[in-house]
Formats: sequence, C-alpha cells, structure tokens
Amino acid sequence: MTYLRLDRVEKTFSGLTALFPSSLEINKGEFVVFVGPSGCGKTTLLRLIAGLEEVSSGRIYLDQKELTWIEPKNRGVAMVFQNYALYPHLTVEKNLLYPLSILKLPKEEKQARVKQVSEMLEISSLLARKPAELSGGQRQRVAIGRALVRQPDIFLFDEPLSNLDARLREQMRLEILNLHSKLKRTTIYVTHDQYEAMTLSETLVVMNQGRIIQKGNPLELYKNPNCLFVAQFLGSPPINIIKGQVTKEGNFESPVGNIALKPNHSFSGEALLGIRPENFMIEADDNPGYFKGKVLFMEHLGREIHLRVESEGFYLWIISKDKIFVPGENIRFSVLPENRLWFSPSSQNRILDLN
Ligand code: ATP
Repeated sequence: MTYLRLDRVEKTFSGLTALFPSSLEINKGEFVVFVGPSGCGKTTLLRLIAGLEEVSSGRIYLDQKELTWIEPKNRGVAMVFQNYALYPHLTVEKNLLYPLSILKLPKEEKQARVKQVSEMLEISSLLARKPAELSGGQRQRVAIGRALVRQPDIFLFDEPLSNLDARLREQMRLEILNLHSKLKRTTIYVTHDQYEAMTLSETLVVMNQGRIIQKGNPLELYKNPNCLFVAQFLGSPPINIIKGQVTKEGNFESPVGNIALKPNHSFSGEALLGIRPENFMIEADDNPGYFKGKVLFMEHLGREIHLRVESEGFYLWIISKDKIFVPGENIRFSVLPENRLWFSPSSQNRILDLN
C-alpha cells in the first residue's frame, strides 16, 4: 500500500536542476535506500520530503494527504544527519528532550519517551554527559534517539554513518536494521556507499545526475540492472564490460573471444557484454572456453580469490572459488547465457533479446 508518494517532484537551485521531475512510491514500513554518486540529488530528494527544501514543482503526499507545503515540524518526519547535529551545550538528556519541546505533551510523557529510547539504544548511562564527552558511535546513537523520541511516521537518515570507522559502521548498520525490525517505521536512508545500500535496503533507489534511474529489490537490481550505470554502480569488484560486435550471423565477436548467440535475435552492431566477476567459469586448459586471458595478480581473501586478468587490452575481474593461479598464467573462461548482460554502447540501456 503506497504511503509516501512523490509526484513529478523537481528542484532547481538558481536555475540549475538538482532533481529532474521524479516520481516515487514508498509503502508503509518499507526500508528504502537512496544511493548514487556524490551530487546526484539524494540529499535534495530527502530534504524535499522532510520539508527542509521547497519543491520547484510537483507534489508530495503522505497517506493520501498532501504534504507539499506543510511545515517540516508538522510533517511527522524526523531526520538523522551525518554530522549528528546535537546541541553541544546541552546534556544527552536535554538533547533527547529538545525535539519534544514543540509537542504539547505532559512532562511525564516526555520523560517516559526519553527513558524508553535511551534504554532501547543503550545510552541510559550517558544522559548526564555533553556531546563532546561521547564517542562518535555514542553521538550517532543519541542523534538516532532524538529522531526516535518524536515517534515520527517516517525516519530520514542522511549518510548517518559516514563519520564512523569501518567496525563501528558495521555495528551501527546492524543496530539500525534491528531498530527497523522492531519499530517497522517507514525509513528512507541516503548513502553513496553501495555496500551499505545493498546490505540495508528492502528497496533500493539508484540515482544519477538528478534522476531516479532504477528502483527495486537490491538483489534484483544487481542481477537485472536496466542500464550500464546501475550495472557498474553496484558490485565490488565491479562488473566486467567487454566491447564487441554482434554479427548478422548471430555471433558476438570481441578481442577477448567469440560467443555463438541464440539464433533469430533482432540485434546486430556494436554491443557491450557485462559479466559479474563471480559468473565466470574458469575452464580446464584442454577445455576450450570462449575467452582467454593472462592472470596479472591474485588477491586471496580467504573465502574467495580475486583474479585480475588481462586480455587483449581488456582488464577483467574474475572471482575464483578455490582454484589458485600464479601471475603470468594463461587461463580460459566462459559464462553461461543467463549470466550475460548486454548493453547498447550508444544509449547505455539493456539489450534484452540477445544471449
Ligand atoms: P552527496 O552524496 O555528495 O551528499 P547528493 O547526491 O546528496 O551528494 P545533493 O546534495 O542533493 O547531492 O546535491 C545535488 C546537486 O544540487 C549538486 O549539484 C549540488 O551542488 C546542488 N545543490 C544542493 N544544495 C544546493 C543549494 N542549497 N544551493 C545550490 N545548489 C545546491
């Protein structure tokens, strides 16, 4: 059931478009992540939902009610910022009480909410401290607590973990997921980190240059990107792209190797073949695979082995589950039809009827 709906929302800043007309529907209780490179308009979209920016055109609805011109404090949204935005001169307890000052609640109710939230976030022992006396992780927890006490309809997170070290980010990610599964509040989370986006989201919204490019389940987007940008943005090591020609006879010919495609497809001309590193099958020497290349180096990560392979000027990442190779070794590799993603070099969109 659609809960939050954006209808052709656009934002320009002094004539420059930060967000082209964008429509989006989010369900109640959904955890949605906006992801994309720096400057693509993620924060702008979030701030428009929060009411911290005014739309240049378009409308925003929450639960059928129009929200477009409603003041931020009356929207039922609470935002957690990257820089925590805590008041330095106030104690943790006062920071938590502050968002409640605009709500007409009995004092006991305010105290009860602060108590409940600080217990949930395990910050009860920090209530008398000031922000300067807290670690980064503790500050971020207080910032989340400040959003929680308001009991908003929607949580908005703007890159909340980017100031934390890798271990703490991992821990906070789990805590945010845990909170979401407990509270089931609609959550929108902005990040430029594709790993964070993949691990947190139920629904991923990939953005680029002021536009929503694709929305969907993160795994589905990974497996079925609608364009080269999404294919290349998601995945580490990144997807391999091999440029070649699809002939009228139904072959893909490239410097790396040739593949016979299914007959009767309608496409011919230049094409880009995208292959995820884990989807290559390394063939035995005497077994003629489609492609060949030379191992440049190997990264042994314990669970898997990343091979950097060069083939006729193309540099590929191949993940090997267990086989070990030495630099300089020649290898052959192939890929099953269902793991080949085809793109048009001119439009960068998917070509769907090849394989
Ligand atoms: P990042 O990951 O770096 O935070 P982002 O995807 O969140 O990037 P936005 O902050 O939404 O990107 O910015 C989108 C575009 O709008 C950028 O080109 C930015 O320079 C511009 N922009 C954002 N806020 C303003 C503003 N207040 N005035 C003018 N231009 C702005």
